[in-house]
Amino acid sequence: MKTAATTIINEQEISDILQKYSRPSHEEVRDVLAKAAEMKGLNLQEVAVLTGISDPLQLHELFETANHIKDTIYGKRLVLFAPLYISNLCANECTYCAFRAKNKAIVRRSLSQNEIEHETELLIKQGHKRVLLVAGESYPKQGFQYVLDAVQSVYRARYSDAEIRRVNVNVAPLSADEFKLLKAEKIGTYQLFQETYHHQTYKNVHLGGKKRDYDWRISALHRAMEAGIDDVGIGVLFGLFDYRFELLAMMQHIAELERVFGVGPHTISVPRMEPATGSDVASHPPFPVSDLEFRKIVAILRLAVPYTGIIMSTRETAKMRSETFALGVSQISAGSRTNPGGYEEGVDDDVSGQFCLGDHRPLDEVIRDVAQMGYVPSFCTGCYRLGRTGQDFMDLAKPGAIKAHCGPNALSSFMEYLNNYASPETYQTGIQLIEKTIAGMEGLPADRARKLVNRVKKGQKDVFC
Ligand code: SAM
Ligand code: SF4
Repeated sequence: MKTAATTIINEQEISDILQKYSRPSHEEVRDVLAKAAEMKGLNLQEVAVLTGISDPLQLHELFETANHIKDTIYGKRLVLFAPLYISNLCANECTYCAFRAKNKAIVRRSLSQNEIEHETELLIKQGHKRVLLVAGESYPKQGFQYVLDAVQSVYRARYSDAEIRRVNVNVAPLSADEFKLLKAEKIGTYQLFQETYHHQTYKNVHLGGKKRDYDWRISALHRAMEAGIDDVGIGVLFGLFDYRFELLAMMQHIAELERVFGVGPHTISVPRMEPATGSDVASHPPFPVSDLEFRKIVAILRLAVPYTGIIMSTRETAKMRSETFALGVSQISAGSRTNPGGYEEGVDDDVSGQFCLGDHRPLDEVIRDVAQMGYVPSFCTGCYRLGRTGQDFMDLAKPGAIKAHCGPNALSSFMEYLNNYASPETYQTGIQLIEKTIAGMEGLPADRARKLVNRVKKGQKDVFC
């Protein structure tokens, strides 16, 4: 590996900077917001200035700037996906998680490959095209091969000829050789959350198993990228430690990936800790993040790394989700279950799942709601399938050219959803939104969008540019 894991996060530097900018002046905040509006990202000091904002007027300006950046770069697109929990076997003792080894309150289960295929069919039947495969850190007797087989099972699944087009993966850190095998299965993004970048807190909440090793975890994305996985996703479990520290630490992690590989993470996830069966910590987070602080976190990230996708899961309520779309969230899960086999059983997974969900609505309802708010639900997987990943994606995204692809592709993938899966009400809402969105586009993107949508209307599938 090209970096010693221990040098990625410099806690002293973070504390010094946070202290220096704990009460930034109006001028300092204004300067940072003006720089952020240029959409070239922010450095550590500038992010610290934004974390120090408490004045309501300045917060408002922060949210306005985030909204402007989100609109300019991403338009009204919102990418949708569903998690697929394949196993809740786990050898670790993360105090906040229902899957931890010693928790006797949940039923353990790892799905067979046939069951994984069947769960996937149920997701396809709803209209999903992107799956995030999730597992605890212990595999059945096949070992890591179980995960590789699971990716194949998801890609193999069909419902009425339709398929999943992108499998992202969130499993425990792998060795370099294992990452190469995962890459060979044609996964999309490999996601891994550091949970907390604060060393002592990390030690306090990870009481057993391999996950105790902070360095093995923080170096995982380096191994993934060295193994050729172009798109990696980072995240913090908000609630474990001071969010200001975590934001700056994330910036250090990103800077290190950029330094070594020339490109940072493809996505950032912002899970906020939710109650989980058998966990006191999850019900009483040591550093609870309020709704306002949560919106501030999303807005700061949008300014700090404008071209990195921000993912929000169904941990959050429908209300919080709608409030953060405008601030920079670009991908959301919908209709989720966090217990293996949950799509088949259709049970509410607050007892048997990994954590409690804030948004229990089915995909069709989420889509209708999102569309009514003027956001275009996107199932597009075009970039990844055309090889626009990693550095290539960033090169295309940074000058804004991605708009000429993403806008039309979002609309054609949405049209495909409406044609094949939508309820009559959602269909009506969706068609109106598609027409209105194309009417508001100009030039090449408008032409492309019109052509692609018309091809889908005539019955073609998987149409993208
Ligand atoms: N076992 C692997 C790991 O820990 O990296 C991957 C899967 S784990 C199920 C996925 C993520 O769930 C964890 O990284 C953690 O951030 C999140 N999680 C665990 N407990 C949670 C809770 N109580 N509330 C919200 N998210 C939680
Ligand atoms: Fe296991 Fe992951 Fe849960 Fe920790 S967070 S107990 S590693 S499933």
